[in-house]
Amino acid sequence: MPDVFGDLVGQDEAVVELRRAAAAAAAVLRAGAADRAPALVAAVPASGDAVATDDAATGGLDPSAGMTHAWIFTGPPGSGRSVAARAFAAALQCVHGTGCGECPGCHTTMGGTHADVRMVVPEGLSIGVGEMRALVLRAASTPSGGRWQVVVIEDADRLTEAAGNALLKAIEEPPPRTVFLLCAPSTHPDDISVTIRSRCRVVPLRQPPATAVAEVLVRRDGIAPDVAQWAAAAAQGHVGRARRLARDPEARTRREAVLAVPRRLTGVGAAFDAASALIEAAEAEAEASVTEADTTERAALETALGAGGTGRGAAGAMRGAAGQLKELEKRQKSRATRAQRDALDRALVDLAGFYRDALTMALRAPVAPVHTDTAALAGAGAQKWDAEGSLRRLEAVLACRAAIEANVKPRIAVEAMMLALWKG
Ligand SMILES: [Zn+2]
Repeated sequence: MPDVFGDLVGQDEAVVELRRAAAAAAAVLRAGAADRAPALVAAVPASGDAVATDDAATGGLDPSAGMTHAWIFTGPPGSGRSVAARAFAAALQCVHGTGCGECPGCHTTMGGTHADVRMVVPEGLSIGVGEMRALVLRAASTPSGGRWQVVVIEDADRLTEAAGNALLKAIEEPPPRTVFLLCAPSTHPDDISVTIRSRCRVVPLRQPPATAVAEVLVRRDGIAPDVAQWAAAAAQGHVGRARRLARDPEARTRREAVLAVPRRLTGVGAAFDAASALIEAAEAEAEASVTEADTTERAALETALGAGGTGRGAAGAMRGAAGQLKELEKRQKSRATRAQRDALDRALVDLAGFYRDALTMALRAPVAPVHTDTAALAGAGAQKWDAEGSLRRLEAVLACRAAIEANVKPRIAVEAMMLALWKG
């Protein structure tokens, strides 16, 4: 039975550091229990024993002791930032202090139901200040399970500035038993503010090698080895994407449509057609992914608000209801936009993989292709375009991703990219 770190693929160094920190955190709790001082950092033991105080202080949450209050997990998408954060949270709540994977603390944290672990998964484009203040407030309460209050913020790069400031205050003066785990693509100031960064310990995750991804697909998901190998390579180190490709025929169809783009670019008209097709496919994929959640949420809210009521007070209730429905619609729209951008970005990553294959083939570099199923096509491209032309095309795809990230309208960015891919 693998422990809670078993799903963290190809991240041996990070796992060693997190295990050490979990052990240090458990030692802090044991020291606290021994001298009955639950709040260790400000510890004044009830016994008044000076020696115990010193012990407690050295075992407190100072970085050199192996455990600290605030962490940032960085790495490329799919490297397992949130998987690492959740596993670490489980290890902190584990009754053995190891992340055994079997005790109630581990189980409930991994299952998302532990009372002292909050996972913040932003659905819109940013995490607002209201949400963050509420979170910080709750995080300051005493852990009901007697161990730690853990707050995991996925996509901490999507904090608004005001939300970041609210979080910073909590990190600067952390409640003694509260641990913040942030996930972000990198520690670049665009992703995470310098002041927050300076208060956190950074755990860098790497893009896991395809062999490690394939291995976990076989072991954990029971996927056939040849399919697992293909999916791991095609997903370029993104574990979740690899699993989807291996399991979901629609995901495979969408990928094939994207990889057909280079073949279809035969003129200006075709380039614009290809741009439209790519945008519309992303919209369709995003819609499929959010429609069900939207409908469920709306129905739940309407039921909660007692829609259709006619009794006394119903008019007043409906006025409040209209505001809540509007709020829900705003949130859903924001989530839809995000889902579209994510879908489009996945398509662009696939496309970049194709031109990368052409480039490595033109250079005769001894590396395996990303997309084995379009390797022949990439080879033909390599002959026609040479290394320079392949590189220009790869750069056009990457420039498109950067433009969309910088809020250029997706259709405009994709059209510009298609023209560049056609012209070379
Ligand atoms: Zn455990």
